[in-house]
Amino acid sequence: MSAAQPSSPPKYRFADLLAEPAVRKRWEQVRNYFFLRESTYDMTNRCNIRCDGCYYYAGDKQFATDNSDPTVWRELMQQEKARGITFVVLAGAEPALVPELLQACYDEIPLGCIATNGVKRIEASVGYKIHVSVWGNDATSLRVRKQKHMLEKQIDNYRGDSRAVFVYTFTRDNIDEAAPVIEQLSANGCKVTFNMFSAPEAYDGLLRHTEETLARTRETMLELLERYPRQVLFSPYSAVAHTHKLGLHALYSCPYPRMNPSTDIGLGRSFRQYRSDLTWDRAASCCVPDTDCVDCRHYAAGSAVVTSKLYRHATAPDTFKAWLDYVDTYLAVWVTGYEKGENLCRGPVDPPQGCGA
Ligand code: SF4
Ligand code: SF4
Repeated sequence: MSAAQPSSPPKYRFADLLAEPAVRKRWEQVRNYFFLRESTYDMTNRCNIRCDGCYYYAGDKQFATDNSDPTVWRELMQQEKARGITFVVLAGAEPALVPELLQACYDEIPLGCIATNGVKRIEASVGYKIHVSVWGNDATSLRVRKQKHMLEKQIDNYRGDSRAVFVYTFTRDNIDEAAPVIEQLSANGCKVTFNMFSAPEAYDGLLRHTEETLARTRETMLELLERYPRQVLFSPYSAVAHTHKLGLHALYSCPYPRMNPSTDIGLGRSFRQYRSDLTWDRAASCCVPDTDCVDCRHYAAGSAVVTSKLYRHATAPDTFKAWLDYVDTYLAVWVTGYEKGENLCRGPVDPPQGCGA
């Protein structure tokens, strides 16, 4: 009788995973940023446009009364710093409408990012990364965001600005527009990353993805990454994680307070999502509040959900490299001064099993 074959997969020590010099170098590079601790802030409930499927205008956070006093915001940032927050995400509705508040935040906590529609330019003295949301070509923006020449305006405002990353959000019906839009952005020297439309709770519009559009989006993302490797900040594993038929929570287990009752460690302990009246509610706190968790594939969510799962990925060389590519992408998109390296994995890698447990 022959000896039984071992049924468990090969095990790797962490040192084995770092054996390749390029992998070790990337690990050393990304671990320098483990100090980042984020919270997010709605800067105002006003917006200069109205988009179909906006998660800000779902739920009751839109009814908070704006606190528009820069001194109060400055004090809030000082308190945030004191409780260990090192990275701020300024969103809203539209942060560009409250420039004094942006400056007050930047003066106190200099690492962070602003999510904007890009219609109004943010002053150069605010040195955060600036994420400019793109939802398709100009015809689509006119239909969904009711804005004429939106891409032209966004490019005019942020061409040649090293703060800016254009975030192309794939919906169910703009997948084929991505190639010409990325070509136009690329021709203007703009950096681009990808996002997935993630339906707000109770959303019944036409932008929600299906299994077929998820698969087509993945293919398109991979093609564009291959075609524009210098302009597109993304990785094959980012495409896998964000276009999987399971959403991010089912796949990786979301650590934001809204889905994570633990108050002991990580985001469950430190993350807060402030409304524009500076109140916050732990039960509603995540980076995209009022998004349907089952459909959540949002790039901002993934930046914390996937990044926090080091131990789940550090089980084999391919999943560890895929995770490093994901984190390298996240840092290049979100952190001023971080430059994206070459992806270590050239093709898609499946998420490790049990990632969501
Ligand atoms: S620009 Fe942003 S905040 Fe304003 S309506 Fe559109 S999605 Fe909402
Ligand atoms: S919407 Fe996304 S980020 Fe927010 S709690 Fe749900 S799964 Fe997490």
